[in-house]
Amino acid sequence: MALDQTPDPSQQFASDNYSGICPEAWAAMEAANSGHAPAYGEDAWTARAADAFRALFETRCEVFFAFNGTAANALALAALCQSYHSVICADSAHVETDECGAPEFFSNGSKLLTVRTEGGKLTPQAIRSLATNRSDIHFPRPRVVTITQPTETGQVYTLAEIRALSEECRRLGLALHMDGSRFANACANLGCRPADMTWRAGVDVLCFGGTKNGMHAGEAVVFFDEKLAEDFGYRCKQAGQLASKMRFLAAPWVGMLESGAWLRNGAHGNATATRFAAAVAGLPGVRALFPVEANAVFLSLPPAMAEGLRARGWRFYTFIGGGARFMFGWDAQDKRVDALIADLRSLAVAAA
Ligand SMILES: *Cc1c(COP(=O)(O)O)cnc(C)c1O
Repeated sequence: MALDQTPDPSQQFASDNYSGICPEAWAAMEAANSGHAPAYGEDAWTARAADAFRALFETRCEVFFAFNGTAANALALAALCQSYHSVICADSAHVETDECGAPEFFSNGSKLLTVRTEGGKLTPQAIRSLATNRSDIHFPRPRVVTITQPTETGQVYTLAEIRALSEECRRLGLALHMDGSRFANACANLGCRPADMTWRAGVDVLCFGGTKNGMHAGEAVVFFDEKLAEDFGYRCKQAGQLASKMRFLAAPWVGMLESGAWLRNGAHGNATATRFAAAVAGLPGVRALFPVEANAVFLSLPPAMAEGLRARGWRFYTFIGGGARFMFGWDAQDKRVDALIADLRSLAVAAA
């Protein structure tokens, strides 16, 4: 479906969650809204959505639908851990910085062990050094590694990097979890099959983001090792994550996956971010803080320029990664992006 390009002055690039629902997800929800259907995931939409994931990943896998990413991550990690275990993650990982302790809470206390990283990427060496640092009874035993793909600052692990991480995990007896709240953006960037970025590279459990990809809500927890999914349904229910009218959490996935919108949406966000970054590169005082590999652009801006942008009505966050963060979603409009670029240009000229 073509993007509506009627200029929309409400459009902001502070977060990919400022956007609305994409037409494919909306149409599927509307189609699901006809008549009655069994509750709690016993309906045909839920079965069809799970099958769409199996087709996408070219394998048998167990799929669960949670309302948001915090719940998906926390419950997936809890399923991989006992309370006396620990989870290795980057110090900038969403599970560490933005989930209010949910992974620790839902795992009954599994500790997150953080690694200081550049751009949020873990390395095999960092995992090994943390996992082998202590093996005595007094320290929570490392059991899981979680990686964010793409990272919170928009860096994408290559397939070789993921494979190297999973090989290290196997050697150390660790499971590998992937926080894919922007999975589509990473997949679009690598141009790879979803299977290659996940189970074929050794990922055990994936949280696949629907909300930032254009849905109203919803993340899918995909278990590539079906044994790990045992009892996961109970975990979801206990945590308040089993939707009674499940068809409305499942149907948008059917719309997204069967139409290919998930990947188109990710590619559009990425392309817009790349165009934006190129247009503002070289403006006096403006510096990109991270390479642009997904739909995020982080800019270091002189304080006066940041204030100037805010005074002109632009919204953006500065608490992640330092600098000003701009996120481009499935619906980012060229004209609106051009307006942001023009404001940055004129503020840069005024400051020079
Ligand atoms: C947005 C996001 C999530 C999910 O957050 P919710 O607000 O709970 O849906 C998870 N991980 C990362 C890296 C994110 O950016």
